[in-house]
Amino acid sequence: MSNCIFCEIVRNKMKAQIIYEDDNYLAFHDINPQAPVHFLVIPKKHLENVLDADLKMLGDLFNLAVREAEKIGLSRDGFRTVINCGRHAGQSVNHLHIHVMGGRWFSWPPG
Ligand code: AMP
Repeated sequence: MSNCIFCEIVRNKMKAQIIYEDDNYLAFHDINPQAPVHFLVIPKKHLENVLDADLKMLGDLFNLAVREAEKIGLSRDGFRTVINCGRHAGQSVNHLHIHVMGGRWFSWPPG
């Protein structure tokens, strides 16, 4: 989709610190990390948010998120996954993504 930052990253038009790529999915470090480790997992196909995703895609995205979290060494102390959907949740990029954050303590409830 034109004027979507994450589609630009998919098309290699914008730089990102990519940590995983296959034909359908991409994982890269967040440009404004909220934790010592903060990466995003996205489908290459442009979907606005989680409302547009089917079960297979959600399964693939979460599987990738967890596998990469393990590889980076977050499985011992734990990590948080977040999907913001829509304006009340503060979604700022309208291309479906899972945040994976770790390396510090997180409070609950989230702000
Ligand atoms: P959200 O607010 O849930 O839509 O999250 C969007 C995330 O994308 C934020 O954490 C941003 O810091 C991150 N972000 C925005 N632009 C880029 C970029 N060019 N490369 C990596 N992460 C980005």
